[in-house]
Amino acid sequence: MTDKPIIVLFRNDLRISDNKALAAAADSGRPVIPLFILDETGADARPRGAASRWWLHHSLTALGAAVEKLGNRLVLQTGATGKVIAEAIKASGADTVLWNRRYDPAGMAVDAALKSHLRDEGFEAESFDGFLLHEPSRVATQSGDFYKVFTPFHKRLTADGEPRDPVDAPRQLARCDSMPGSERLDALGLLPKPDWAGGLSGRWKPGEAGALERLEIFLEERLNGYAQGRDRPGEDATSGLSPHLAHGEITPFRIMAALRRRRSQGAETFVKEVSWREFCYHLLFHKPALHRENFRPEFDTFAWRNAPAALKAWQRGQTGYPIVDAGMRELWQTGYMHNRVRMIAASFLIKDLLIDWRQGETWFWDTLVDADAANNPANWQWVAGSGADAAPYFRIFNPVLQGEKFDPQGSYVRHWVPELATLPDRFIHRPWEAPAAVLGDSRLDLGSDYPRPIVDHARARERAMAAYRATRGDD
Ligand code: FAD
Repeated sequence: MTDKPIIVLFRNDLRISDNKALAAAADSGRPVIPLFILDETGADARPRGAASRWWLHHSLTALGAAVEKLGNRLVLQTGATGKVIAEAIKASGADTVLWNRRYDPAGMAVDAALKSHLRDEGFEAESFDGFLLHEPSRVATQSGDFYKVFTPFHKRLTADGEPRDPVDAPRQLARCDSMPGSERLDALGLLPKPDWAGGLSGRWKPGEAGALERLEIFLEERLNGYAQGRDRPGEDATSGLSPHLAHGEITPFRIMAALRRRRSQGAETFVKEVSWREFCYHLLFHKPALHRENFRPEFDTFAWRNAPAALKAWQRGQTGYPIVDAGMRELWQTGYMHNRVRMIAASFLIKDLLIDWRQGETWFWDTLVDADAANNPANWQWVAGSGADAAPYFRIFNPVLQGEKFDPQGSYVRHWVPELATLPDRFIHRPWEAPAAVLGDSRLDLGSDYPRPIVDHARARERAMAAYRATRGDD
């Protein structure tokens, strides 16, 4: 037995409950060094986007406060993980390093090297589950291949039975006498300058307490209507848990345990969505370049357009298609976009504008508070048709019909595109068809207050189909 300190690493697991690495350290009764390292040194690491950095700042504030309540202090460091840990070991005399596993390719490579290096040097190094319900390396088809289709993947996960119960938060964390020095949170430079994050602060409460609150609200108020409501962007019908999951402020184990007591159609649909997240990580595990490379190589020769003005109009929510613009403005202002609208906006970029899905994926990566190494590229490839189990390329969303179907009274559009707020329902998704008198009554000067469509959808659709046929060699 030893009473040497234990270092517990925090990365995308910014919580104290259902944190197996932290629980193991606390249970040992030994001094604990909770350590967060901002490691932006890896050549392969994908730097966090701006919205995710904003979230991280606030999540670390919350985690720091929670750790203090346990009688300890969160140490913040920047630099290469291995080097920072070596210095922390030297300063503290720690002989054990514990962490919860992460599943982005660069992070996994760092952790694998770290584990073998520490063990070679005679230290203890152990990792735990928490971020995913199933280890991607252990899920395989009967022939030993990886799953490329969601439904059998989901069935296979379900056959594994109920996931484990979440573990409790420690009651205290013994402090180490020789704690390594910490950098100040502000010095990590995570907040945007100038500060454009007002809309993000208005909508979100980063941190574990915010995550648990969201889960509670979802279970009490939204779960029953989730199956029907989840496609309605004008309603608060989904959980809003994605940024909390992305930063590990809550685990899927906690979510699954809470759902277990509430069997319903809503719960079944929700479990499937959580399973999609697992599927995206399964794909990323087997295709680590998922954000750079088409899953289906036949898309490698696709004739994408270089169209900077159109890309900018899309990014700024100025395409002239109200549902697309509402989504892009929601994203810009709050770091989030409703799932249905993500699909519509992504389809518009890829198919109506014929712009490479990677450009959209990059924009989302920078602007989403839930920017996720697996979910983002996997979903972009799903929309593009280049992904596994993807929507076929020729299924091209009509942004007007999608708007009318899922936002029938236009409440979502009216909120995010206020210049259209007074248009009657009939024209809210097609303002260019409104007669002059209607536009006059609504005090809308089309082309000045709000753009006319930057492409004609019907023609853009033909163009997209032709490009697709050419890629397949049908022409
Ligand atoms: P809920 O409907 O409450 O779903 C619960 C949870 O299930 C989500 O928090 C999420 O973890 C998971 N989930 C739901 N839908 C999906 C899905 N299609 N794929 C994978 N997991 C899912 N999600 C991200 O977390 N990060 C991203 O970077 C991301 N990028 C996307 C890009 C595009 C083009 C599209 C179409 C979807 C993307 N998604 C992404 C998936 C989905 O839009 C969000 O997870 C969802 O909108 C988050 O809101 P919510 O938590 O209220 O979802």
